[in-house]
Amino acid sequence: MKIIFLGPPGSGKGTYASRLSPILNVPHISTGDILRENVKRETELGRTASEYMEKGKLVPDKIIISMIKERISQEDCRNGFILDGFPRTINQAKELDRITEIDAVINLAVPEDIIIKRLTARRVCEKCGAIYNILTLKPKEEGICDRCGGRLIQRKDDTEEVIKKRLEVYKETAKPIIEFYENKKKLYDIEINQADASVEEGVERILKVLKSLNEQ
Ligand code: AMP
Repeated sequence: MKIIFLGPPGSGKGTYASRLSPILNVPHISTGDILRENVKRETELGRTASEYMEKGKLVPDKIIISMIKERISQEDCRNGFILDGFPRTINQAKELDRITEIDAVINLAVPEDIIIKRLTARRVCEKCGAIYNILTLKPKEEGICDRCGGRLIQRKDDTEEVIKKRLEVYKETAKPIIEFYENKKKLYDIEINQADASVEEGVERILKVLKSLNEQ
């Protein structure tokens, strides 16, 4: 299955995608994670991208599109993939459409106050990228990753000021992307209205949508 997760930053795209990946047996591809990995390794791509990322701006389409083309052409994507954080512009959506056909687009709708609450409480593992939340998804030991023992840190762009900028960018760019997939009859809305809604419940709801597609 080829699935896209749409939704504002902090809507849970990364969390849901990482839970669904082993269930559906397809890789979870997060453009944000690929970029952060490049920033960490100080590659040329990382150096260019970090200038945009630190300000909450989008990295130029040309860079992102060639990065995703290369990624989804790899062997592990043969049976599909889950895209998280891509497409972020209508241009990216159209380019993706030229390369492959998507089965479903899950659109996570979450009110803004909940997003700000969630993102300022988000922590990520420095080593393996696992996502936690000091309010809703706490690690067993404070500041330590359950999975690999790595240190939990706050992303540089998870401060209130940068979050507001990222939400603004999302509002400007998301509408045509949502319409694009709506017209293709691929869009499925999942509304999350509670700050402490459980991840399991969200996963169940998404699986139900995907199952109904398979039965069509
Ligand atoms: P994320 O982890 O998805 O919130 O992405 C973090 C940052 O990486 C974004 O604020 C952008 O600067 C950049 N980024 C991630 N995915 C894309 C994309 N598809 N297009 C442009 N910039 C992106």
